Amino acid sequence: PYVVTDLCSGCRYTECVSVCPVECFHIDDTMTYIDPTNCIDCGGCVPVCPVGAIKAAHKLPPDKVEWIEINRRRAAETPVAMGKLPPLPGADERKAMILR
Ligand code: SF4
Repeated sequence: PYVVTDLCSGCRYTECVSVCPVECFHIDDTMTYIDPTNCIDCGGCVPVCPVGAIKAAHKLPPDKVEWIEINRRRAAETPVAMGKLPPLPGADERKAMILR
C-alpha cells in the first residue's frame, strides 16, 4: 500500500482524497491516513500531494517506516474522508518551508 507520512501533518491539503478511486483516506484534525486494506496501489495520490507526503510503503526511507503502522492504526480509528477540504491554517507557509 501507499502511506501518508508526517509531511502531511499540519498541512492536510486533501488533494489525495479527491483522486483516490476506492476511498482509502481517513482524516483527523492534523492529517490524512491511508487504510492499507483498501489501497489498490494505483499511485494516483502521490503526484497530487502538494508537499510530497505520500510514498509507496516499500520505498519509505528508514526514518519513515514507522508511518506504515501509524497509517494502519489511525485509519482504523478515524472516519473516512468524504471529499476535499480546505487546507489547515498555515499550510501554505508550511509547504514553502518543506519545498525550499
Ligand atoms: Fe488511493 Fe491509489 Fe493512493 Fe492507494 S495509491 S491511497 S488506492 S489513490
